[in-house]
Amino acid sequence: MRYLWLADIHANLEALTAVLDDAHLHGDIDEMWCLGDIVGYGPNPNECIEVISRYGALCVAGNHDLAAIGKLSTSFFNPEAALAIGWTAATLKAEHRSYLLALPLGLEREEFTLVHGSPREPALEYIISVGSAREAVSYLKTRFAVVGHTHLPLIFREQEGGGVACVSATPEVVQVVGEHRAIFNPGAAGQPRDGDPRASYAIYDSEAQTVRFFRVPYDVSTTQLKMVRCNLPLSLVTRLEQGR
Ligand code: ZN
Repeated sequence: MRYLWLADIHANLEALTAVLDDAHLHGDIDEMWCLGDIVGYGPNPNECIEVISRYGALCVAGNHDLAAIGKLSTSFFNPEAALAIGWTAATLKAEHRSYLLALPLGLEREEFTLVHGSPREPALEYIISVGSAREAVSYLKTRFAVVGHTHLPLIFREQEGGGVACVSATPEVVQVVGEHRAIFNPGAAGQPRDGDPRASYAIYDSEAQTVRFFRVPYDVSTTQLKMVRCNLPLSLVTRLEQGR
């Protein structure tokens, strides 16, 4: 089985479309795992939910998904993100609000736990350091986890002696899933923050036991133009071209 992993789409339809087109160039996809934050920040929340639900993706809720349907306070957000959540909440169609309402905070599939943030705090906690990864691993009931939330393509692997190491997930290196517990983050499809504005995603091959990370360019300026037309905050518009 080949699984497409993607996270943090953030209502960016151009990025999502580019990821799907690119992923299919690398072979058939049997299942999609979406690690949350389909909406927030971007201009196409309804369209992105439409694509994800049509795909039949296994999907968990992110903090922006929850905030957009009133299940999480925007006091956790910076002012620009909160503004975008207000716009998203007002823009969501009833059927897409229902889709977000039905999303679980976490799922288990094969040997993987799927959460947006971390196994301890599924919607909110960032696994961004070796220390936070070490804590997160201790909460895992499965051998592996796939997460989003930080918008950074990273792998945290438990080491022989019990420590955890962080591996930067570049497209050049095919990662072996391995025996030790590990946490994988495919990076953000719709708002990368590692200085590379290209959409990020990963493909897990359960037979080969490998994970490959990919970056794909998309039409950033079209997304930006839509955001300006929707009066979304300018700082959110410019960060897309910077990948920050
Ligand atoms: Zn996010």
